[in-house]
Amino acid sequence: MLHDRDRIFTNIYGIHDLSLKGAQSRGDWDKTASIIKKGRDWIVDEMKTSGLRGRGGAGFGTGMKWSFMPKEDKRPSYLVINADEGEPGTCKDREILRSEPHKLIEGALLASVGMGAHVCYIYVRGEFYREAEALQRAIDEAYGAGLVGKNACKSGYDFDIYVHLGSGAYICGEESALIESLEGKKGQPRLKPPFPANCGLYGCPTTVNNVESIAVVPEILRRGGSWFAGIGRPNNTGTKLFCISGHVENPCTVEEEMGIPMKELLEKHCGGVTGGWNNLKGVIPGGCSVPVMTKAQCDSALMDYDGLKEHGSSLGTAAVIVMDQSTDIVRAITRLSRFYMHESCGQCTPCREGTGWMWRMLERIGQGNAHIDEIDLLEDVTRRIEGHTICALGDAAAWPIQGLIRHFRDEMEARILEKAGTPAGNQVGAPANAAE
Ligand code: SF4
Repeated sequence: MLHDRDRIFTNIYGIHDLSLKGAQSRGDWDKTASIIKKGRDWIVDEMKTSGLRGRGGAGFGTGMKWSFMPKEDKRPSYLVINADEGEPGTCKDREILRSEPHKLIEGALLASVGMGAHVCYIYVRGEFYREAEALQRAIDEAYGAGLVGKNACKSGYDFDIYVHLGSGAYICGEESALIESLEGKKGQPRLKPPFPANCGLYGCPTTVNNVESIAVVPEILRRGGSWFAGIGRPNNTGTKLFCISGHVENPCTVEEEMGIPMKELLEKHCGGVTGGWNNLKGVIPGGCSVPVMTKAQCDSALMDYDGLKEHGSSLGTAAVIVMDQSTDIVRAITRLSRFYMHESCGQCTPCREGTGWMWRMLERIGQGNAHIDEIDLLEDVTRRIEGHTICALGDAAAWPIQGLIRHFRDEMEARILEKAGTPAGNQVGAPANAAE
């Protein structure tokens, strides 16, 4: 359980003063110049000590990522903050943008020092118009107070920060597509290597970090990496914003200790599952791209990277989607599948064609218009997409379906068998043409 003294986001619900003065009264922008003066290496080492792993879903070590930025390079370096939060179920970064923007701006400055960048772009999802306004207001305040800009915080470090609004494509949340979009091009993922640390924005060294990863940086550097590392479990350290939606009494976004049991998270902060814990059917624990878990798994699951991996799922963005017994699980995953088909950028064939195949097969299975062995065919299609595409959208489209087949195959079969009770002529689709 997270103690209040260890809470980083003390105004995540926006109920206190949102102005710079209010933020400073809660500890933001405290001793920033002295942290900057400790230098780049100290900042990166402290971040490594903290064990912070990227909060955007991939979970890569933040300090390690910063250390990849070249030190001897004539080109400018850039920090790009990914605020393109577009995955169904995920709604944590928007709370930071509208209620804790100064944590993000201060974090951007300190992170930039850690990687030798003097310019930061924050790429905000276009639909977050009000959030972008709140962020810009806070940036203007910070410029007005001399906290950013030339000689930021009177530290001798020059630092500029810009907000860029996206135009609505989910794939722009993928870091290289985001960079393309920021450069004014169509937002499509790039082939890697080269990686952004070598060749990112405008062909220059770039690090792309999630909003939450950057917003926790000032507190980590003020209190020390070992403080953050002391919360949670080894390899799964610190606090985390969990955004819980679906069939709970009180859906919410809440900061908690990494590794909290899922049951405790839902019962303590959300009033529990509707109808009680035993009415739980399944949980998608990390945003809609990770495999669904059964109630039996949820009984003992710990909410961190390793805890969810043990159950064949993933922490992702910690967007917890709760489904009670009233859920048509086949329908739910079919809807997610349609989302990925719609959002595929179309560059690679397995994703462009495969996402549509999977959705159409799921539609037919859900209606019972399929043969039992098409479930195996569907599984086979997911395996041919997974790991065979330029970016992770292919994996993200495949994994929820693999989870559905792994845990709820009986429900899929029941639809087909139920329908088989009707005249055979009503059945459409056969294994040979199922994916067409
Ligand atoms: Fe585009 Fe899909 Fe390929 Fe990603 S996996 S690059 S979204 S086609």
